[in-house]
Amino acid sequence: MTEEQQVSEPAGANVQADATKESGQRVESMQKMKVDVGGGGEQIAADGKSDVLFEVEDLNCYYGDFRAVRDVNMTVPMNRITAFIGPSGCGKSTLLRWFNRMNDLVPVAHITGSIRYHGVDLNDPKVDAVEVRRRIGMVFQKPNPFPKSIKENIMFGARISGYSGNLDELVEKSLRRAAIWDEVKDKLDQPGTALSGGQQQRLCIARAIAVEPDVILMDEPCSALDPVATLKIEELMFELRDEFTILIVTHNMQQAARASDETVFMTMGEDRAGYIVEKGPTSEIFTNPKHQLTEDYVSGRFG
Ligand code: ADP
Repeated sequence: MTEEQQVSEPAGANVQADATKESGQRVESMQKMKVDVGGGGEQIAADGKSDVLFEVEDLNCYYGDFRAVRDVNMTVPMNRITAFIGPSGCGKSTLLRWFNRMNDLVPVAHITGSIRYHGVDLNDPKVDAVEVRRRIGMVFQKPNPFPKSIKENIMFGARISGYSGNLDELVEKSLRRAAIWDEVKDKLDQPGTALSGGQQQRLCIARAIAVEPDVILMDEPCSALDPVATLKIEELMFELRDEFTILIVTHNMQQAARASDETVFMTMGEDRAGYIVEKGPTSEIFTNPKHQLTEDYVSGRFG
């Protein structure tokens, strides 16, 4: 079983346990999320609505004693695509994984500081990690459909989270939203693993969408795909941006330049701790960065 399956499937299985054992706590945390929506320190967009979905404050991410990421302070805007770029090993994936507590599954991983989502500290012990991962879904580097039919891939998470609507409609809607319906509508009972790599990745996006998340985290989603499949995913990201907030880690600078609204450039110091050098609108980061380090990286002089 791949690492991705290990983290996806038990997370699903845990939903059942949590639904019964901790339902009271879960409801409480959900209510807190609702109550706190818009609470504290956010920016107000021109239309008067809050534009901030996540607020990261003084975040340091550790594996045991090793500090992999240091001193992160940033906000993430709603309904935008935010890309994280930077040299390999500077902590992009580590940081991304704290946005939905995926690192809970790594025993030595821990943090100081906070990530607030709609004003709620995601790492507050009262907050249910399973519910966090439903609202904040994840798509991994290597497409990882479950070894089940295309249809079952979509239904799995929805069933577990107690979806009471028509499952066939959900399958069609999710596959349409992930721009793969036309390619698979005649073979819904065939294994998801029999699709091409690009189709498998769109199936995984459809599976993530099926549980109605708010955010989709993408960890180098195109690194195993050819250029045509990569472009399809990028087009899809733009379509999804109207409904979801997307955070993407990519080692492909052209992809960040083409497919994101905001870019976060990270690098690492001599102690190997990664940190954010600069964050801003993607066009500025690529054409008029404020820092020399950013300029050197985006112009290909290092990394
Ligand atoms: P990037 O995504 O930028 O390539 P990572 O977040 O994967 O960087 O890694 C950042 C640092 O954290 C690296 O030094 C890496 O070796 C370390 N690291 C990543 N995952 C683990 C882990 N599970 N246990 C210990 N160290 C890890």
